[in-house]
Amino acid sequence: MCAEKIDIDFSNKTMADFRYYTKRSITDKRTGGVGRALVVVEKGSDTAQIEYTCPKAKCGHKGVASMPFKRPPFNFECGSCKSKIKIDKLKKAV
Ligand SMILES: [Zn+2]
Repeated sequence: MCAEKIDIDFSNKTMADFRYYTKRSITDKRTGGVGRALVVVEKGSDTAQIEYTCPKAKCGHKGVASMPFKRPPFNFECGSCKSKIKIDKLKKAV
């Protein structure tokens, strides 16, 4: 089974249901490709669920990943091309 979406019904949720929620674009420094990532941690959960589009131009794989929740950055591997994907800490707004 290869899921493309996080198994959460967002239509029933509000921000208060999440410990952590972020949408981010991710760039591949080598090729300059751009992907996207959504990271959510549900309240009462210690697992970060990540829905992503691989930033590699030739890949563009859409998939999900999960990992124990810790502070960013989040590092994981693309399920298709196995390249390392890093979701950086949110930069401070100036
Ligand atoms: Zn990939």
